[in-house]
Amino acid sequence: MEHNDKARILVAGSGPAGLIAALGFAEAGFDVTLVGPEANTADGRTTALMNPALKVLDRLGVLAELRPQAAPLKVMRIVDATRRLIRSPTVTFRASEIDEEQFGLNLPNKALIPILARAVSAHDGIHWLKSTVESWRLDADQAHARLADGSEVSASLAVAADGRLSPAREAAGIRASARSYPQSALVLNFGHRSEHGFVSTEFHTETGPFTQVPLPGRRSSLVWVVKPETAQELAALDDATLSTRIEEQMQSMLGRVSVEPGRQVYPLSAASPGRFAQNRVALVGEAAHVFPPIGAQGLNLGIRDIEDLIGIASENSSDPGSRRTLAAYDTRRRPDIWARSGAVNLLNMSLLSDMLPAQLARSAGLNALGSFAPLRAFFMREGLRPGSGFRAIAGGLRKPTAH
Ligand SMILES: Cc1cc2nc3c(=O)[nH]c(=O)nc-3n(C[C@H](O)[C@H](O)[C@H](O)COP(=O)(O)OP(=O)(O)OC[C@H]3O[C@@H](n4cnc5c(N)ncnc54)[C@H](O)[C@@H]3O)c2cc1C
Repeated sequence: MEHNDKARILVAGSGPAGLIAALGFAEAGFDVTLVGPEANTADGRTTALMNPALKVLDRLGVLAELRPQAAPLKVMRIVDATRRLIRSPTVTFRASEIDEEQFGLNLPNKALIPILARAVSAHDGIHWLKSTVESWRLDADQAHARLADGSEVSASLAVAADGRLSPAREAAGIRASARSYPQSALVLNFGHRSEHGFVSTEFHTETGPFTQVPLPGRRSSLVWVVKPETAQELAALDDATLSTRIEEQMQSMLGRVSVEPGRQVYPLSAASPGRFAQNRVALVGEAAHVFPPIGAQGLNLGIRDIEDLIGIASENSSDPGSRRTLAAYDTRRRPDIWARSGAVNLLNMSLLSDMLPAQLARSAGLNALGSFAPLRAFFMREGLRPGSGFRAIAGGLRKPTAH
């Protein structure tokens, strides 16, 4: 079909999901209007993206520029650092066990977001309006967005990449059940004396995971999930004291630690919408799923939302926002999003829970994975393939003998 026969797509939101959606739809030949503020170039977090997500970035032409700023993830380890009665063995997943060079790359958001934003700005097929949507009118044939500058944009399909509160989702009449956790994540980057060997280690503690992920050189990123008041206390410590606390928490496995400037604290929450598309609006990224940052799931899942949406929209490119297209998208995304969100929330709750059954289930699952190489390999392969998951299963494993 000719370029011009394809309908217009309106993407709302200029976070990573919105930028990737805009690029993906434009590459698929659609005319795209992106509405969202200037991209955030000051986010000190890093994002671990697995190989399937990296393939998408490669296809969109941004991976080569990102690669020098990223570190490969070759080994992923889970260490039970709880002081509970039932503890799990350390489980180590090696990409080499399944003949992969790496599971993925850990990318600084300060590189990922600006590089995506530059690619969007340079793309002929994308018109980026650096404004916000103030109100939506969704009728049978079109989605109409009224922008803060007073202008209006209409499209066959509105892609809601407008984040966890998603005004587009609300306008489409999709309700989301939300909950907040008694946890916050302290996020920062740090240097260390010893080599990390491209190993990421997740220490499970009673307040949540403490996750170290390699960066290039002798540097790593940290997501440390603790009680909200502890996160504030830790964030207020001087560099030397905080560095020592981090080194102790990691049992000095990387030698002397020195924290880098820039600390961010994120309160943890979860949200699940009742549907993933309705009334000319399709949800992607955090508009479609919010859960705690455990096991690098969020944007990986968001990229799969976008891939599925583009695939389905391309099959009905003259009216990609039609009722039938949106119903197909909703059906396609349900199992993946539910499985991931469910497993991450379950794992998080099993860490917080004092209940013996929850601890037993977690321990039995990790035990089975730790001691049986074929099973471990199976789950690693599953983890790299869309639709099932390395962490989803390692974390929430309840039926290891079922496969
Ligand atoms: C500590 C932490 C660590 C994480 N680590 C990982 C990881 O290692 N791997 C991974 O895959 N995921 C990770 N995630 C998850 C990942 O960060 C999120 O999935 C991702 O940032 C969500 O992007 P988004 O574009 O959907 O939402 P957002 O980044 O929230 O973007 C939403 C955008 O919509 C815009 N917007 C809002 N309202 C409007 C409006 N009315 N009109 C126009 N625009 C609007 C906002 O300005 C913003 O630009 C992590 C999350 C956290 C908190």
